[in-house]
Amino acid sequence: MTATTARVLAGPPAAEALLASVAARAARLPTPPTLVMVRLGDDPASVSYVRGKDRKAREVGLRSTVHALPAETSQAELLALIAELNADESVNGILVQLPLPPHVNEEAVLHAIDPRKDVDGFHPVNVGELWAGRPTLTPCTPAGIMFLLSHYGLPVARQRAVIVGRSHIVGRPMAALLLNADATVTVAHSRTVDLAAVTREADLLVAAVGRPHLITPDMVKPGATVIDVGINRVLGPDRRAHLTGDVHPDVAGVAGALTPVPGGVGPMTIAQLLANTVTAAERQPTR
Ligand code: NDP
Repeated sequence: MTATTARVLAGPPAAEALLASVAARAARLPTPPTLVMVRLGDDPASVSYVRGKDRKAREVGLRSTVHALPAETSQAELLALIAELNADESVNGILVQLPLPPHVNEEAVLHAIDPRKDVDGFHPVNVGELWAGRPTLTPCTPAGIMFLLSHYGLPVARQRAVIVGRSHIVGRPMAALLLNADATVTVAHSRTVDLAAVTREADLLVAAVGRPHLITPDMVKPGATVIDVGINRVLGPDRRAHLTGDVHPDVAGVAGALTPVPGGVGPMTIAQLLANTVTAAERQPTR
């Protein structure tokens, strides 16, 4: 058995700290920041994510509304709702829960959201601002990771950072945020040659892949900070479904610090969504 040495970077205390600042900022505004979430169909994961975001939003003093639409809602109907929410001055943040059913073009929907209300940070205007070094509304998971790192006093500037995964939701915006924070950044992906040689260079390793236990101890520099974004459902020895990350548990014997799964990055994502909603409200004209 491997001795566990890595410091555990628990998500909940960091998320609570972020939520406390969200509540304080919300209370300073003339009216509570308002988040509107839209979901199509009854995908159990989407239902549960939206419910969790709605509950947390209310807990910290935000207003939250959920539009639960049938799976067969047409793209035109969804775009009409977004246009209505864009025009409604009482709405500060709009989130369309992904994935959308196949008959709806995700890109067309995300591009239709007013960038000032785009609390997921997926609109090309916000993506461009992030890469230009002027982040405003930034994708929630990587922005939450930046908060987690600062909460635990872990250095970013001058560090060699390696991100495994280049999705628009996690890998790419993570790279931009780390670059903006003066890390030296490498992004690896499924076509990377000799992944282990690349990851072993990292002082800060972010795994956002969706492959259980892809990152093994031999791929990690001793003492590195390892952020495990992966959420994978696997069958345990008891034949029941368990959540596990992209990082093998034995990495705890090599890394200096490691986020657990569950209870690491996950809670940061919701907290950051609410932080983005307050940021959107602060930047919109007072009503
Ligand atoms: P995507 O499937 O969109 O992206 C996965 C990335 O991993 C791709 O860039 C892919 O490369 C790369 N990849 C796949 N296989 C390998 C491999 N063998 N070696 C190296 N790179 C590989 O996933 P997401 O970014 O959306 O999510 C990643 C994980 O994070 C998932 O488990 C997801 O559930 C979880 N997640 C967790 C969140 C949280 O709040 N904790 C939030 C969002 C996601 P290529 O581009 O070449 O195909």
